[in-house]
Amino acid sequence: MKHDIVSGLASVRERIARACERVGRDLSSVQLIAVSKGHPEDAIRAAHAAGLRVFGENYAQELARKASALGDLEDIRWRFIGHLQRNKIKLIEGARATVDTVDSIRLAEAISSRASARKTDVELLLQVNVGGEAQKSGCSMEEVPALVEAVRHLPNVTLRGLMTVAPHFDEPSDTRPIFAALRELAREQGLPELSMGMTHDLEPAVEEGATMVRIGTAIFGPRPSAPV
Ligand SMILES: *Cc1c(COP(=O)(O)O)cnc(C)c1O
Repeated sequence: MKHDIVSGLASVRERIARACERVGRDLSSVQLIAVSKGHPEDAIRAAHAAGLRVFGENYAQELARKASALGDLEDIRWRFIGHLQRNKIKLIEGARATVDTVDSIRLAEAISSRASARKTDVELLLQVNVGGEAQKSGCSMEEVPALVEAVRHLPNVTLRGLMTVAPHFDEPSDTRPIFAALRELAREQGLPELSMGMTHDLEPAVEEGATMVRIGTAIFGPRPSAPV
């Protein structure tokens, strides 16, 4: 059965609205990023037709291919949310994507130097492994202040905020301390954007101050297992 993007999107918007209501937040303070990894281009076209404009992708090659195939959608914007190897930076330049997963000064320097050469500016978020899980990327909480300081001195990149992928808890509200810790860290560092919350833990993320939520499954349905 074909997943219905329009109703998936409506239910996500409803979930965001209710979470905002519970904590007295303005709906416009939460940006919805549609995570389209693993889904074909026509799913992205359908989501765009339903009103979505910002899409998150995890793999450099896949982003490059999709951005080029969807080049006719002039107002589409891309955020790179996967682990980025320095030798893959060039692949995502055509998409003019932000990089939301910077976790080392070497990666930030490489993005900065290519951006300088191309006379462009790249928006960055730092990925923080708040839960300290061995299998997840991201710098530690302790590394953030020094990394923020270093990235702020680099040309042609603008550091906008912090991002995290929280550990999985069966009870989503158990994630709240993780999100609260990221919010406090961003506040201390004077960073306005907080990218946190996925299909499973959207509510606690919004309640704890997310300015961007990254939602895949609840919009597009389960990801096809074969590469598209
Ligand atoms: C896949 C992915 C998402 C979306 O996850 P869903 O559970 O499908 O909403 C969000 N953020 C990152 C970093 C991802 O890799």
